[in-house]
This record gives sequence, C-alpha cells and structure tokens, in this order.
Amino acid sequence: MATSEFDIIKKYFSPSNNRSDVVLNGGDDCAIVTPPKNSQLAVTTDTLVSGVHFPPETSACDIAYKSLAVNFSDLAAMGATPAWVSLAITLPEVDAQWLDEFSKQFKTILDEMNVALIGGDTTNGPLSITINAIGFLQDGKSMQRSAAKVGDKVFVTGSLGDAAVGLRCVQNKVNDDALSDCITRLNRPEARNEFAQSLLDFCDCAIDVSDGLLADLGHVLSASHCGARLDLSKIHLSDALQHYFKCYCENKIDWSLIVAHGDDYELCFTVAETDVSRVYELADKQGLRVSCIGEITKNKALVCMDERGQEVDGFAEGYLHFS
Ligand code: ADP
Ligand code: MG
Repeated sequence: MATSEFDIIKKYFSPSNNRSDVVLNGGDDCAIVTPPKNSQLAVTTDTLVSGVHFPPETSACDIAYKSLAVNFSDLAAMGATPAWVSLAITLPEVDAQWLDEFSKQFKTILDEMNVALIGGDTTNGPLSITINAIGFLQDGKSMQRSAAKVGDKVFVTGSLGDAAVGLRCVQNKVNDDALSDCITRLNRPEARNEFAQSLLDFCDCAIDVSDGLLADLGHVLSASHCGARLDLSKIHLSDALQHYFKCYCENKIDWSLIVAHGDDYELCFTVAETDVSRVYELADKQGLRVSCIGEITKNKALVCMDERGQEVDGFAEGYLHFS
C-alpha cells in the first residue's frame, strides 16, 4: 500500500477513550483491560469476507454496521454485555473515502454501545473484516446451547426471512420499494443485546439465528439431547416479506427462505412454561416482538408443521461454508 499501515491506523483506527476499564490502548503490542469483579468474560470472533458474507457492492457504512452486529449478536446469545472489540481488517487498497465512511460508522456504533476499540491488525489483500468482541457475564450467569429442557417453550425475536429476501433482491437487482426493508435487514442486522441481558434472569438457553433457524435450533437440540416441535405459522413475517410472497411467489409462503437461510441475527431461546408471561412482559417493555413458535420434546427430532397443520420437511440445510 502507498500509505503505510501505521498512517491508516493513526488516521482511522485510533483507540477509543470511552471506557475507564481500558488501562493501555493503542500502539503497544497488546491492549491492557480490567475486567469487573465477580464477572466472567465472554469472547467471540466473526469474520466477514467480501462476496461471502456481504455482496461486494455493500457500502462501507453497512459493512461496519454488519461486522459489529454479527459479533454483538454472538455476545447477546450468551447474555453478555459488550465491552471491548479489536478489529483485524484486510484492505485491497487504501481508499480514503471508504476508510473514512467505514471508520466513522464503526466508531459511532461503538460509542452508542459504550464499547471500546482496543486494538487490531491492518493488512493488504481481498476485503475482509474480523472482529474479536469481549463482553461481561455477571455472577456466573449465561445462556448456553446445552440448557434446553423437555417441555420448554421455544421463542424467537423479531421476524425471520427478511435478510434472505434482501439478498435475493441485491443479487437479482430487484428494484421494489416495498422490499427495501429486507435489504436493510441484510445490511444492518440488529443484535438483541439489551433483550438478551434482561432474559438472563429466568432463561438459560439461547442461540442467535445466523445460519437459519433450523440449523441454529438444531445446534441447541443436539447440545441439549432433545428435539422440538415447531408451528411455523407462529413465526412473525414482516410486511415486506408478506409482500414478497404475494407478488413474487404466487401468494405462497416459501418456508425454506424463512427457516433455512442465514443472516437473521434474531435470538432463539427456550424458557420454562411458567416463565412465558415474563418473556412477553419484557418484550413489551422493550418494544420488541417475540413469538412462541413451539416446544422442546423428548423425541430427538425437529418437527415442523406448516400453516395448514401439515408436517413439512426437506428444507435445505442452513448456510454451510466449504459445502
Ligand atoms: P504488531 O506488529 O505488534 O502486531 P501492529 O503493527 O499490527 O502491531 O499494530 C500496531 C498497533 O496498532 C497495535 O496496538 C494494534 O493493536 C493497533 N492496530 C492495528 N490495526 C488496527 C486496527 N485496524 N484497528 C485498531 N487498532 C489497530
Ligand atoms: Mg499486528
């Protein structure tokens, strides 16, 4: 690169000074941070590769948004409060405008979330963004995939399938204002951190839906040695998605788009039947939609009923790399 990596770091990725628990930040070989007393750290990494995790034409702002959201979503799935991130970025060229837009959006989100950028790595190559995110868990409380119990109710936040339709719109250059929300969902997923943290009071099993509901719930079921019966018609479909099925699918619901595609970044969690009303109270308070979509069963299968009460199968698996 014509400009040195150090010029780029100094200009665009200077360390945050928004948190007092960051003891040493920027320029040394490592950052030094102080975890709070009586807490554990939840640590996660996700990489976004151009052309794989986002269409190459995605804007710098949207890439900044999505790369943070997917990592915060992993922290949400554990119930962790995001605190620190590092950023490893690989750039094909030094594009000042791109870097300016990316870094401004990146820092705006970090400030909104009260998260500090504490380090990273800057290299030259095909565009790729890797974020390492660290969050706090208090008093040994977390939500884990292995904690679903027979009889638990299965919930999902928000709506599913929008990002899958958004991707179709981008790939097929569909220009329909009624579908623009789907493209926003693809580019700007919203991690459910606030809701997840309050769920911790009575929920100990959650996963974020990144590879499609069936694939991700499948991880919960195998880790918890149980099955589930889902009523797909209980999944909330956004207005945009309903418009898509009406106008582009001859008014037929394509369930595989809703449960077997990726990029939703909603939270799927299970709670005891006695806590169901607490879920709705919480969601109500936070203005977030939640839907009870089924139940955990002893029978180790994942059974899905459609809107006519008929069992559906033959969904494509969720998104798998290397396949
Ligand atoms: P080293 O060679 O010791 O690994 P680097 O030259 O990679 O150090 O980075 C120098 C400093 O700049 C380090 O403190 C590193 O954390 C920070 N840094 C590098 N790239 C980024 C980035 N993209 N965002 C934030 N900090 C970065
Ligand atoms: Mg380095």
